Amino acid sequence: MSGETVNKESDMTTCGINIVEKDRNAIINPLVTCQPLGAMFAVSGVKRGLPLVHGSQGCSTFVRYGFSRHFREPSEIAVTSLHEDAAVFGGRKNLISGIGNLAVRFKPELMGIVTTCSCEIIGDDVEGFIKVAREEMIQKMGKEKAEKIKLIHISTPSFVGNHFTGYDNAVKAMVSNLAEDPEESNGKVNIIPGIVNPGDIREIKHMMGLMGSEGIMLTDTSDPFDSPLRPSTTQKKPYYPKGGTPVEDICNSSNSLGTIALCNYAGSAALELDKKYDVPAVIGQLPIGLQNSDDFVRNMVKLTGMEATDELLDERGLLVDSMADLASRYLFGRNVAIYGDPAMVSSIARFVCELGMVPAVACTGTENPEFVEDMKKVSKESDGPIEVMPGQDLRALELRLKEEPVDLVIGHSDGRVIAKDLGIPLVRVGFPVYDRAGYHRVPIVGYNGGINLLNRITNTVLETYYDETHWKLQQ
Ligand code: SF4
Repeated sequence: MSGETVNKESDMTTCGINIVEKDRNAIINPLVTCQPLGAMFAVSGVKRGLPLVHGSQGCSTFVRYGFSRHFREPSEIAVTSLHEDAAVFGGRKNLISGIGNLAVRFKPELMGIVTTCSCEIIGDDVEGFIKVAREEMIQKMGKEKAEKIKLIHISTPSFVGNHFTGYDNAVKAMVSNLAEDPEESNGKVNIIPGIVNPGDIREIKHMMGLMGSEGIMLTDTSDPFDSPLRPSTTQKKPYYPKGGTPVEDICNSSNSLGTIALCNYAGSAALELDKKYDVPAVIGQLPIGLQNSDDFVRNMVKLTGMEATDELLDERGLLVDSMADLASRYLFGRNVAIYGDPAMVSSIARFVCELGMVPAVACTGTENPEFVEDMKKVSKESDGPIEVMPGQDLRALELRLKEEPVDLVIGHSDGRVIAKDLGIPLVRVGFPVYDRAGYHRVPIVGYNGGINLLNRITNTVLETYYDETHWKLQQ
């Protein structure tokens, strides 16, 4: 393996997957980031929701930078700005005064207090500090105004887990603190979308709309991360973007017909609602491709009792038609490497199989046991063996691809240099995508999203493997 031994093959299962385990401790070009990112993402999807990071400035700055590179939108994220003194004396003063200042100036409806490595290690009593901050807010603003602002403690110690653990913890913390004792059914379905793009959330809402169903997104980042710029000469720039899930909807989530978590790493809040309030939980797969989208529709039908309408079946038919037009002609038999978040990797791998391609390598930065199980299921639909790389990084993927190249790589922008160096075309999906414009608006979930992703894959294949010969551009 070109000068550096990184992987050892350890387990050839009967299901056609070959698990490649990491055999070094250092991480080079990571595929995951720390928990607070996911929590900040989830809180940003609440209407007038404000993440307050209890940590050093860098803990929020790099996330804000990441969000604005990907979504091309500013994001309001506050930080308690812990310095050396806080490491010795604790961050009590910073957190209490930070909550008070934000409450008065920004008047949020919900503040998600997101912890970080430093305050978790020094053992700050965050719950206790929030109580003191609440009392001070009551003194300054009056009881009624102060109690309208929900203060949610979200524990996201970064030395365990990753960004989607943080997302999961945040949604669970919001639901646990806000969901009220059930009254009558609201006839809605709660959806936990995971860390996906605004276009994806809008597509899920569109599909639900076609089925005559409404949802409560836990939480809805579509408008906050893709909001219109409407200059006004009369009004000041608003502190918050439009959209987001209203706090009262989160309170009302206990009255829903059920909760569908679209990724299996984001199901804790669904399980909590099930356990506490008997709201049935369905932990699904990200609805990418035909079968995963069908599963989502089936789950909706089961929870709501509504039928898949003709319009929805027509959209499904268009995806099937596109697959029939393109898959056997241009894509069949091509080997693909997929990397990124586990839910996205396993769902795309399944779609790739539906297209007659082989997901030869599936690489993710975490060691979720669910990921390996999901890939075992996918392998039953694959025409070739799959090398599954859990808990790995981009360096390991690079070495694997150098040794045995594939026809196509699918993943986010962090793999662009590897793809370029190895001369393998890259289809950009996931988070972050910062070297292409507008991808956050284009869904890849659902039937319409399947067509978009299929077109993106096919056009990349055409550009790379057909332009120069098939279309006779060269004389
Ligand atoms: S790893 Fe810890 S210190 Fe670094 S950004 Fe994340 S929370 Fe902050």
